[in-house]
Amino acid sequence: MAQNDPPKTLGESLIWSYSNLAMAHAAVTQGANRYERVHYMIRSRLRKGLVTGTMKVGALAEDEKLKIILPQACCYCGAKEPLSVDHLLPKARGGPHTGDNMIWSCKSCNSSKGKKDVLVWLAERNQFAPLLLLRRYLKLAFEISAERDLIDTPLELAQDLDLPFSVDAIPRQYPNPSELILWVVPLTDSVQGP
Ligand SMILES: [Zn+2]
Repeated sequence: MAQNDPPKTLGESLIWSYSNLAMAHAAVTQGANRYERVHYMIRSRLRKGLVTGTMKVGALAEDEKLKIILPQACCYCGAKEPLSVDHLLPKARGGPHTGDNMIWSCKSCNSSKGKKDVLVWLAERNQFAPLLLLRRYLKLAFEISAERDLIDTPLELAQDLDLPFSVDAIPRQYPNPSELILWVVPLTDSVQGP
């Protein structure tokens, strides 16, 4: 895959988005208003590393650590109660029943989201996912694609598969850093990027 070719497979699409996520995470963490050379370099280095296999997608353990650091609140709106456990990738669509896929959600967000894909649901509300929530989503999508041996599936075929994540909703373009947030509530500790 040449550096700027659009992704052709499911794996390339996930790599593209995850590398953009790393770029966005760095820019937001630095309080940048727009992407600069250093951020593009983070993206291209990670993308190249993931494509060639010299780098790996971060472990979900990093995201689990977040659950301890972050206040116990709805991951979508920040409400403190009444909370319930939500499957980030809906169980009804085959999302795994594992701790990695479980997050806090308030009853209101939970019922509004229903069985919808979280990225589709947020887009309907004109929201871009908080980056650290998106990071967990993408890592789960990578994991499921690898388990099902779908990494090399052409994108147009992957779009028709019955998957617990939405291939079409995986973001390619990321908004300007000034329009992005790391988490629904401000973080007090700095968090390692993708
Ligand atoms: Zn909520």
